[in-house]
Amino acid sequence: MTFDDGPVPGPTEFVLEHLEKYNAKATFFCIGDNVRKHPTIFDKVLGGGHAIGNHTFNHLKGWSTSNQRYIENINQCSAQFTAHKAQPVKHFRPPYGRITNGQIKILKNKFQIVKKITVFTALKSCFIYLLCFSAFPCSPSTSPNEKKQK
Ligand SMILES: [Zn+2]
Repeated sequence: MTFDDGPVPGPTEFVLEHLEKYNAKATFFCIGDNVRKHPTIFDKVLGGGHAIGNHTFNHLKGWSTSNQRYIENINQCSAQFTAHKAQPVKHFRPPYGRITNGQIKILKNKFQIVKKITVFTALKSCFIYLLCFSAFPCSPSTSPNEKKQK
């Protein structure tokens, strides 16, 4: 079971509570900048014995990012993990599933690249997404007009 884009207040804490209830372990593909912003929630993920994966520092789209910037951003995310004394991370999931072959070539020696998710995982993630929809950066964002009306 995997969860992307945390750690964020609300959804990540919700997921952690439910995993604990069922004594289940998951992999959290974390955004480095969210780790920086929400260190205590990240510590809860680590403290819960869950695995973490790299999901870049700024949730970059590989297709529209230069290889150099992409790799630097991933390293920045790893550095953030290291600052929290996390174990070295083996898994990387490209945000939006968008990664170029060139980027895969550079990264494949360092990470296991997790692009596809199983149906089972997808269903579970959907359930969580429905519950926490608004807090995930991956979710469709509202248009500027809709925001103005609120
Ligand atoms: Zn994501």
